[in-house]
Amino acid sequence: MEVAKTIESVRALVKAARSKGKKIGLVPTMGALHIGHISLIEAAVKKCDFVVVSIFVNPTQFGPGEDFEKYPRPLDADLEICRKAGVDVVFVPTVKEMYRSENLTWVNVEKLTESLCGQSRPIHFRGVTTVCAKLFNIVAPDIAFFGQKDAQQAIVIKRMAADLNMPLEVVICPTVREPNGLAVSSRNKYLTEEQKKDATLIYKSLQKCREMIDAGTTDSETIIAEMRKILSQAPSIAIEYVNIVDAGALQAIDPHACLPTGRRGGKVLAAVAVRIGPACLIDNILVDASKK
Ligand code: AMP
Repeated sequence: MEVAKTIESVRALVKAARSKGKKIGLVPTMGALHIGHISLIEAAVKKCDFVVVSIFVNPTQFGPGEDFEKYPRPLDADLEICRKAGVDVVFVPTVKEMYRSENLTWVNVEKLTESLCGQSRPIHFRGVTTVCAKLFNIVAPDIAFFGQKDAQQAIVIKRMAADLNMPLEVVICPTVREPNGLAVSSRNKYLTEEQKKDATLIYKSLQKCREMIDAGTTDSETIIAEMRKILSQAPSIAIEYVNIVDAGALQAIDPHACLPTGRRGGKVLAAVAVRIGPACLIDNILVDASKK
């Protein structure tokens, strides 16, 4: 496994692999790797012949007062995980390497970035799409792998790649959870054991949503109220948002209601963001509301 710190070195390694006819996979991460990231790497190893993992805590996607400085950066452990998982190159640029001069060019996906996390994090997705566009240009992967855990991010990146005719496929991998349902996240490291227990209410609230839709509840407000009730069982939880949106357009919708296309139901995304202690945690599930 190679560790590339510069754009030129990762490009040279990818170029050599491509010249041998290898299919290139990219897994963009911010490090502090866990089993969620490993599942993406495994998917990449399965589908591609040459796998690049990028580890870069991207400052442009953090707003003022967010956790950019204290975001965990356990590089040696991350490299060991990559080595064991069969990664070919880990790209670990510095901020100076990725942003060599003042950044004047931004990629902004409209509409899809306005709801959910976009409401409280106005510059977040612009930072994500810009750094992913840079990574796609640097690595030129055939396939890039993202997690359903960050559903809005995955949908936004898919749209960016389609709108800008980027020559790659974006694959979205399922959310990996702890046995108690808590979605695995680098930010879970900020939580005490007690707070981790409270955080299991997030997935419980999402399961409640699925149950209610499956049982035929047609009005989101009723479902959201029940989900909020579950989350409020833990005083440590401060709700940022609880929402049910159309899984394509990310706009609020009643399950089973008529979509603008006239289609009934379809896939809805139930999404939750909460603060627990110092951590902001997000999670979501996709629910097929077309059956009932
Ligand atoms: P991050 O390092 O948090 O920016 O995440 C890098 C990639 O890993 C993103 O595409 C995330 O959606 C994905 N990811 C993070 N946590 C999980 C998880 N629990 N299950 C699946 N994918 C995940």
